[in-house]
Amino acid sequence: MRLAGFMKTSDFRVVPLRTEIAEAARRAAGSGAADHAIVTADSPRGFPCRHCLRWAQPGERLILFPFAAIPPGRPYSETGPIFVHAEPCERYAATGEFPADFRQGRVFRAYNSARDMIDAEVVNGSESEAVIEKLLQNPETAFVDARSVTRGCYTFRMERI
Ligand SMILES: [Zn+2]
Repeated sequence: MRLAGFMKTSDFRVVPLRTEIAEAARRAAGSGAADHAIVTADSPRGFPCRHCLRWAQPGERLILFPFAAIPPGRPYSETGPIFVHAEPCERYAATGEFPADFRQGRVFRAYNSARDMIDAEVVNGSESEAVIEKLLQNPETAFVDARSVTRGCYTFRMERI
């Protein structure tokens, strides 16, 4: 039995994009791959880096490339565009904490172990953790993906600890 309250340890961990995927994207962009674009952020809330889980600031360069958040071979397979900083950045390390930059404008999608989507909820603000924990309370839920509620792009994954 867990204790509820302010000191409660979160029941989930944040899974940012793997560093080797960010590095591969930087290499591919550097070699001119047609599906890897180098872009410059021109607004403070339009270019989320999936590796450090921060918004790129205007003027920072990023790589835009397709990422298979749900790999091919299943009905809910999904590949879509994501950004990572063009310069090396530090992978998000506070994996026990919801990333502060993404409390607004996310939808949480719950998937089962077969990678079928089984639930989804739009989340804004401080209820983020409560919704994650509610989705993870379903024993069928294997992981929860946060995506942009407007453009649908994959942002990061959350798993049970
Ligand atoms: Zn970054």
